[in-house]
Amino acid sequence: MKVDVLIIGAGGGAYPAAFRLAGSGKTVLMADPKGVLGGNCLYLGCIPSKTVRELIEINERSGRLLGSKNHADFRLIQQHKDDVQQMRFDQHNREMSEFQSLKFMKGKVSFTGKNSARVSTESEMIEVEFDYAIIATGTVVSRISFPGSDFCITSDDIFSFGSEIREIPKKMVIVGGGYIALEVADMFNALGTEVHLFVRTETILRNVDRDLVNIAYPLITPYRVHMNTTIRDITGQRGNLKINYTENGADLNMEADEVLLAVGREGVVPEGLDLTGVKYSSRGIIEVNDTLQTNVSHIYSTGDITGRTPYFHAAVRESLVAANNILGDTTDRMDFLNVPVSIFTYPPISYIGILRDEARKRGMDIAETSYAMSGDSRAQMYEEQDGEIRLFFERKTGRIVGGWVVGLDAPQLINEIGTAVFNSLTALEMSKFPDQHPTTNEGISKAARAWKSST
Ligand code: ADP
Repeated sequence: MKVDVLIIGAGGGAYPAAFRLAGSGKTVLMADPKGVLGGNCLYLGCIPSKTVRELIEINERSGRLLGSKNHADFRLIQQHKDDVQQMRFDQHNREMSEFQSLKFMKGKVSFTGKNSARVSTESEMIEVEFDYAIIATGTVVSRISFPGSDFCITSDDIFSFGSEIREIPKKMVIVGGGYIALEVADMFNALGTEVHLFVRTETILRNVDRDLVNIAYPLITPYRVHMNTTIRDITGQRGNLKINYTENGADLNMEADEVLLAVGREGVVPEGLDLTGVKYSSRGIIEVNDTLQTNVSHIYSTGDITGRTPYFHAAVRESLVAANNILGDTTDRMDFLNVPVSIFTYPPISYIGILRDEARKRGMDIAETSYAMSGDSRAQMYEEQDGEIRLFFERKTGRIVGGWVVGLDAPQLINEIGTAVFNSLTALEMSKFPDQHPTTNEGISKAARAWKSST
């Protein structure tokens, strides 16, 4: 078959482009072995993990504020997670059916040449010729290997559609210091699991502004963190594991029901990519410019596999930028800097744009203002008053360049801050907006109003 555009994968980097291109009259073939839209985000990532997180938060709040005696039923939580996933698979199918020139196949794509590929479905192989391709094959969890590492689970085992994990482990070792390790650790800690976080170095959240991490660290780790710790081996069986590990040079051991590995992700390079001449790194990361074009002009790549901003919402925007450029709008560019990032711990952490470390790196003179969550009315309602909102402005112009939030509603608040950063609003402009009362957003205009006294 011959199509205008072949889209490989059906996640956030893929289907927005498929819809835009098909909506503009292009013939599009999109394929993913999962057979559903939404990619890893919906199948085993953001949506299921955040559904579980929200329910655990409701349970924790009602226990703490209302004295509710019910222990969380993890089977119900997991069932609700599956229901939400199914609801979204169905929604995407309805959306897709509106585009006549879009064909979706349940299958895996491999390249056979610069303008040709093969889709392997359960029943047949389909040869495809294309004018353009978009590679949106995402990432998978990295695994490390040591004796007994096969006993370890990953976040995929917990959050996958139809996951078999329906019981709350009594004791759990989580290996890693990135956002997935921290989010899962907080969730299970809130469910009553005894959590031990094993961090290989002395640093968590390696690529995040150091001062932000230092503020958040004591709030988000209400369990035992073991720094400079590596596992030597694991014996026993799941539900009854013996972990031999080295912590700060000392050989120790511990028993636990589960060990979860969260040690990073790596790109999924489609087979045959070398036949196209597209460049990629040893960790499977495909290099792109700000139109998402690879070094081969008719092949674009979007989403996590580009290693730029590995978040669903960034992938969606990248997908649309790639589609617009294929359609001839070469003015549409991706702003990789101004993408909100959130770590869904309790409390959550969010940030966007230029923060202290980045400003220092760029030799940029910034001024900052802040607002403490302790004074926020909604934070008081929930008795969750830890944290702050902090805004960063270019001192000379008073224009906002970045911000962070640690505390209640951070992932919602970062959208308003992000809109301001995206549009380079001044502190004065931000301070004039009457944020809805009583929401945590009020802290944003309050922080902006502190600008005069900070300069
Ligand atoms: P992103 O958000 O970056 O678009 P995701 O990781 O959410 O990416 O989704 C990537 C999707 O790509 C996954 O659903 C995966 O099954 C799919 N995929 C990976 N390799 C191939 C391939 N060779 N052919 C088709 N689909 C693929």
